[in-house]
Amino acid sequence: MHTPIFSLEVFPPKRDAPIGTIYDTLDGLEGLKPDFISVTYGHGTHADRTATARIANTIRKDYRIPTVAHLTALYADKAKIDEALDLFEDAQVGGVLALRGDHLPGCESEETGVFPHAADLIAYIRERKPDMKVFAACYPEGHVESGSLDEDVAHLKEKVDAGATHLMSQLFYDNADFYRFLDKTRAAGIDVPIEAGIMPVTSAKSVRAMAARNGTRVPKAVATMLDKWGDDLPSLRAAGIGFASQQIGNLLANDVQGIHLYTMNRPATARRIWRNVEPLFTR
Ligand code: FAD
Repeated sequence: MHTPIFSLEVFPPKRDAPIGTIYDTLDGLEGLKPDFISVTYGHGTHADRTATARIANTIRKDYRIPTVAHLTALYADKAKIDEALDLFEDAQVGGVLALRGDHLPGCESEETGVFPHAADLIAYIRERKPDMKVFAACYPEGHVESGSLDEDVAHLKEKVDAGATHLMSQLFYDNADFYRFLDKTRAAGIDVPIEAGIMPVTSAKSVRAMAARNGTRVPKAVATMLDKWGDDLPSLRAAGIGFASQQIGNLLANDVQGIHLYTMNRPATARRIWRNVEPLFTR
């Protein structure tokens, strides 16, 4: 029997928020026992490209937790990627989550860079930093731009063939979608660990926006939750914690390899979920 991986995701504070607010998030996550914390990458032409490395360094040094730094390819040239990789190396990250990123609204006509797909960035990182572990993203319901799940899984295989050795999934609300996806990945010969991405429901507006943006299916139970408690935040959040805990319980009972919890920098929510599921992580 394998020990499931447990990882958390945090994001750098927004540009207008003091960088120190990340300490509130990290302090609040104390007591959870993640194998690593991943730090998202501010995407786009005006993003602060150093924040991810700085926060990853803080997590490793001050909180003694391994980190994974996200990195997006669109709008970057090789020099910018090299710069980020050097910063990640200095921060002693445990790995890089190599992503394509999204086209920014209003920037469609701008130069999007030299890595059209995540697989191109993965291959470049393997060449440039052969000792760096490379992670990649995957989509249990298929990526929103892809024609079909099978097509998307075929492109996922290209990312693994290019050198990704660990996959982290997009959020999903119906575990049946994840199990179907796992079957397809195994049939495609993908044999690296795949963590299930869990995002607790905390606001009706953000679930609806995210679902529309990512093509995430909202099952009846979640839709009912949003209708019933959409205007009653404490109740919605309590229901969201219950739903996410049950989702994780079912995934672990079905022997998935790992859980990647999107904390959304809301440590109280993450803590309450952890309290519910900690006994299920046999360590
Ligand atoms: P890719 O793997 O390149 O796939 C994108 C699309 O192109 C898919 O439809 C795929 O099927 C298709 N495709 C791939 N290869 C080919 C090919 N050779 N020919 C034709 N089509 C192809 N975004 C951020 O900006 N910052 C973050 O920190 C961040 N973190 C994330 C973490 C996770 C766990 C996940 C799941 C997503 C994250 N994202 C982040 C969002 C991500 O950038 C978007 O989902 C983006 O649209 C796709 O990135 P990708 O790396 O999966 O792209």
